[in-house]
Amino acid sequence: MNQIKIGAFISECRKAKGWTQSQLAEKLEITDKAVSKWETGRSMPDLSMFMPLCTLLGVSLNELFAGERIAEEKLKEKADEVLMDVITNWLGHDKWESKECDTESPNVLEVENISKLYENDSTEYEIENNSVLAVNDVSFQIPHGSFVGIMGASGSGKTTLLNLIATIDKPTNGTIRISGQNIADLPEEAAAEFRRRHLGFIFQEYNLLETLTIYENIALALTMKEVPKESIRPMIQSLSEKLDIATILDKFPYEVSGGQRQRCACARAIVVNPDIILADEPTGALDSHAARQLLDTLTMLCREYGATILMVTHDVMAASYCDRILFMKDGEIKAALNREQGDKQTFFADILKKIEWIEGESRCI
Ligand code: ADP
Ligand code: MG
Repeated sequence: MNQIKIGAFISECRKAKGWTQSQLAEKLEITDKAVSKWETGRSMPDLSMFMPLCTLLGVSLNELFAGERIAEEKLKEKADEVLMDVITNWLGHDKWESKECDTESPNVLEVENISKLYENDSTEYEIENNSVLAVNDVSFQIPHGSFVGIMGASGSGKTTLLNLIATIDKPTNGTIRISGQNIADLPEEAAAEFRRRHLGFIFQEYNLLETLTIYENIALALTMKEVPKESIRPMIQSLSEKLDIATILDKFPYEVSGGQRQRCACARAIVVNPDIILADEPTGALDSHAARQLLDTLTMLCREYGATILMVTHDVMAASYCDRILFMKDGEIKAALNREQGDKQTFFADILKKIEWIEGESRCI
């Protein structure tokens, strides 16, 4: 983001309107000095000033951030450029680059020999022998930028596994490294901080706070990550256009469709640039059209935003969007399947075959 260019652009638009600096300042109910500081590139307008300034000068937010007029046909390209600029600015070049080379490993997630034994101390689960080995000696890795699915019948341990990776639950044994950091035994406060800084979540339901608007739901994630407040609105604006939710930002979650809610959850998950996005049956409550739209969105987040996604699903159609599938049964990973170069249809058929094979194996025992 070029502050000087933005300043010069504000100055040019103001002059085109025939206003002096003090006249513009008066309209915005701020001091002349503030306007002069913007125009010379010494400071950026405050977040609350962006919209009134754009309205007064008759420019779009994208144009303000680009510091120039944008022709209609170039709008998409420019908007992406501006978003990239904002993101880079907010992260800082060092952090952006160091993220790749922080760890020697190309993997975002490394799970080694983890197990989870539930002792039967809750009345919710009727367990005869008093304990359940919900996850049994599981190991796998997830490389940067991949979209990995976990499949398995109900009760096979998918949610437990995801909760362990999410630091919501603690493994009985084993290590889990996210971007090189072992998170398996973080104390609760550190775990909460880790979740805020490094993880994004998309669940089947209860994704959004009902008392906040869609915009506020997304902004909240950024605020919790201490993103400078002047960067928040442009970030949300660009991203929501990309996810086709720009027109519903001021609505409350109960006013929009299930598909739109899930795309908002995607926006909220990706906007903080997490190391990994964890999704538990995200399409579970959607009709097939909305489910496909959500899966396209998740794929886009991987391809265009470099997101790494781990998604639990028992739906073969949803799984066919992934690059790799891990198959769970009785707490263990029984098989894995890569999409390789194949298309979704081929992968769909391969997944079905694998499921049949796993079922067959267990019948033979
Ligand atoms: P999935 O998500 O694949 O349906 P879960 O991870 O929810 O499977 O459950 C795996 C197994 O662990 C099941 O047998 C379930 O009953 C048991 N389980 C899950 N959570 C608990 C818990 N909090 N206490 C005791 N047993 C649990
Ligand atoms: Mg589950």
